Amino acid sequence: MSDENSDSGVAIPSLLPESESSNHTPALSDLSPRDKPWDKHRGFADRVEGLYAGSEFHRLSDRIHYCSELLEFGLGGEGDRPKLKLKAARFCRVRHCPVCQWRRSLMWKAKAYKVLPKIVEAYPKYRWLFVTLTQKNVAIGELKKTLVDMNRAFQRLSQLKAFPAIGWLRSTEVTRGRDGNAHPHFHCLLIVPSSYFSGRSYLKQSDWVTMWRKALRLDYNPVLDVQAVKQGSKPMELVPELLKYCTKESDLVADREWFLELTRQMHKMKCVTTGGVLKEYLKELEQEPEDLIGEGDDPEAEDEGKLYFGWKRREKRYRLVD
Ligand SMILES: [Zn+2]
Repeated sequence: MSDENSDSGVAIPSLLPESESSNHTPALSDLSPRDKPWDKHRGFADRVEGLYAGSEFHRLSDRIHYCSELLEFGLGGEGDRPKLKLKAARFCRVRHCPVCQWRRSLMWKAKAYKVLPKIVEAYPKYRWLFVTLTQKNVAIGELKKTLVDMNRAFQRLSQLKAFPAIGWLRSTEVTRGRDGNAHPHFHCLLIVPSSYFSGRSYLKQSDWVTMWRKALRLDYNPVLDVQAVKQGSKPMELVPELLKYCTKESDLVADREWFLELTRQMHKMKCVTTGGVLKEYLKELEQEPEDLIGEGDDPEAEDEGKLYFGWKRREKRYRLVD
């Protein structure tokens, strides 16, 4: 191993079992277990690239092909515990690229973790609700129209006198049902006055169902979930559920035709929206993040060298590049 590393002037402690290191350069996931997700997401990206190949979206396929092929990490940490920190990579920014949607979600979450405590501080007398709004599954070909209707319905809901929130953060998720239909739903974080829980403005779950049913002009009771964030708990615990992804990777790659139609239907649809008093704090989340690298958990750390990892398609792993 020492020969491989002498170029960069960095000594990487031998963390690998003999058998692993004999024929290959070290894998990113072995040197830095917390960077394991790279292999998984880039592996899914290969599959999405394959689904787009030969379709009307072949240009997206080409872009995804070159996405995050080479990762530049700074090396920090001490002794036998090297710490890698992402410094540079080229991202394709294709909407349904599994790597890019993962990075986007990380950036949004980081922003939310930073800002939500400030909102909690600014609104000490307020509490939080987590509401999931759904409707019946629809054919994938009707997804766009359905999402437009749901957006309008949410707007109507938020304008009702009985609507208790003074602000919200809302994300759209679309899952694939076993029957191939699409299941679009909204996850909403709402900030409500604490009087909501004691006063006449309190809404039972059935009241929420009635309001959403009317707003969406349905002829049936939609499935809807309301949970209050416990007094003393923080809304930050909901961030992972709120800002994960629009469609999970296993659904993206389950069926080619479904995925191509999803791409058509989701074109230019926003996945995250904000409103009311949360808008001024969180409206950045409505945009594609400029930076997909991020600061990491230790922005002050000094780098002692650079390491490059390349994507090995056959093996589905990132490995150190000489
Ligand atoms: Zn990408």
